[in-house]
Amino acid sequence: MFGLDVSITSLKGVGEKTAAPFFDKEINTIDDLLTYLPISYISYSNKELVDGANVHFSGVINSQVREFSPKRNLSITNFTITDGNETYKFVAWNQKHLKFAYNSGDEVNVLGKYDQKRNQFTLKMMEKNKESSEGDMLVAAYSQIKKVSNIKINKMILQAIEACDLQVEQKEILLELHKPTNYQRLEEAREKFKHIEFEAYYKKIMEMKSEERHDKNFSVNIDMNVINEFVSKLPFSLTRAQDDAVRHGLQKLFDDTAMQSLVLGDVGSGKTVVSLTWALACLNDGGQVAIMLPTDILAKQFYGVVQNFLPNFASDLLVSSVKDKDKKLIKSRLETGSLQIVIGTHALTYDDVIFKNLKFVVIDEQHRFGVNQRNSLINKGEYTNYCYLSATPIPRTLAHTLYGVMDVIKINQKPANRKPIDTRVYKKSERKKMMALIESELASGNQVFVVTPLAYEVEDLNLADSLSTYESFEKYFKDRYNVGMINGQIKANSKDKIMDMFKNKEYDLLVATTVIEVGVDIPGATTIAILNGERFGLATLHQLRGRVGRNDKQGYCLVLDQSNNEESSKRLKMLEQIDDGERLAKVDYKMRGMGEVTGIRQSGSEDFILFDLQRDEHIATSIIDKLSVD
Ligand code: ADP
Ligand code: MG
Repeated sequence: MFGLDVSITSLKGVGEKTAAPFFDKEINTIDDLLTYLPISYISYSNKELVDGANVHFSGVINSQVREFSPKRNLSITNFTITDGNETYKFVAWNQKHLKFAYNSGDEVNVLGKYDQKRNQFTLKMMEKNKESSEGDMLVAAYSQIKKVSNIKINKMILQAIEACDLQVEQKEILLELHKPTNYQRLEEAREKFKHIEFEAYYKKIMEMKSEERHDKNFSVNIDMNVINEFVSKLPFSLTRAQDDAVRHGLQKLFDDTAMQSLVLGDVGSGKTVVSLTWALACLNDGGQVAIMLPTDILAKQFYGVVQNFLPNFASDLLVSSVKDKDKKLIKSRLETGSLQIVIGTHALTYDDVIFKNLKFVVIDEQHRFGVNQRNSLINKGEYTNYCYLSATPIPRTLAHTLYGVMDVIKINQKPANRKPIDTRVYKKSERKKMMALIESELASGNQVFVVTPLAYEVEDLNLADSLSTYESFEKYFKDRYNVGMINGQIKANSKDKIMDMFKNKEYDLLVATTVIEVGVDIPGATTIAILNGERFGLATLHQLRGRVGRNDKQGYCLVLDQSNNEESSKRLKMLEQIDDGERLAKVDYKMRGMGEVTGIRQSGSEDFILFDLQRDEHIATSIIDKLSVD
């Protein structure tokens, strides 16, 4: 038995070589490994005895388990299993251990690929079991780790659960999450996990809240002439909602107490420029401004806007791809105060980033940062006002509790010139229709995103992945259109390059995972096509839809529904009817229910693995109630 914070190499049979691909995914400790939760679950049927299908059932081994080696490095194991009615032949490749572990008479659960011609199974998984499983078999599916197979990742995690020192309840929950008994018990385990997660988070927040400063020196001197001039020089006039938000925020800056605002506005509602008016007020009062975004791409984009709209202030970009020499210079300019605006990623939170007079912080896509990251930037100034920008609606009561004394500024209106995006949900059988629309958009010189739930193939999950999709589009459009690919597993520098190339129209079509979900602005893209739409939450789909239709051309959002499920189709159809992120999130919450475990878990929030602020409000409120009574 050992603790959770030791390296995964302390597991039996896990050396540096086995561990390397895990380290690459920042899975270093046992704790990291145990909380590498499945992105989804594969359900194996125990009914369909169809050629080529993976089938599972319970039975008894009714032969000897024989192994032989026709060649070096090749081992074949043979045995038969009866389900009480019929006897099936099994063959296993390179699983020498089987003949030591199993004997005739053992009761087992098996999973194998059926070969009709030979009336035989190729073994995938086998386990001795006390309880025979009648229903479908659920197997955890993980986001890919280099060449490690899904089943191997699972085995290693299960080994870790057994090998380390866990409380009984913790162990039960983790076992169920990684090796579910059935949907219901899995769902219960997920709920418990979320409870634990949220409780820990909430306690941390409460601790910090009690440390808050209450002195009153946060007031900013505001010159309304400067603000008015800035607004009048914009290439558009502000919407009423933007205008209200600007004024609300300026009042907060003017107040003695700190501005601590959460700006909630749907994608495309124009939060950026609103935050810049506040930044301007603070700059004009002699302060420095820091703007933090979750990715290099987004930081660069925001930097472009700052250069464009606030050209008279010294601004610079601090992201990982900046050369060390330049980073040093930026840091020294921040410390002396000659640099007034810095836009960057979490690199801004590092200890060696020191400001002379940090007056204002903007944190865009705030949920992508952990609470510690957000605070470490804000605490770099003595009297720092700040705002978070978010398109993810959070119930107001929760926002208040969670973000301490934050006030919420809503921007509930979009610029008028914006055409609604033509959203179409296609059934599996209508794939050709969808392709025709994609082709006609490409033919008109417009660009297209194609979104897949997975970066790389996960065996048996039967979901589109970016690599295979890229390969098939590449082949299909050969010599006609340029196709690119981007996903979260590509290194930051290359991702930037790919996005830049797409922006510059060097690609016509970009196959992507949800890494493009947030804020990326590609003016030439009119169309976004989403494969396996049924695996995404409506709020996510809505965010994705916000990636297109940013110019005056008609935008399209095409969703391919690859389920065979009425409920799921009904849910997706809501996208055609509703164009409001907050309402969609609510509808989704009502309609999803049990289907949630078959969705693809998005790596959305930094603070939580499973807990979702929108969907799990009931958990949050019950814990807040419980803890405030104590
Ligand atoms: P988000 O709220 O999703 O962050 P952005 O701030 O990126 O939205 O704004 C989306 C686009 O709309 C940008 O190109 C921006 O310049 C433009 N925009 C912002 N406000 C207005 C407005 N009032 N009228 C027209 N276009 C606007
Ligand atoms: Mg934005």
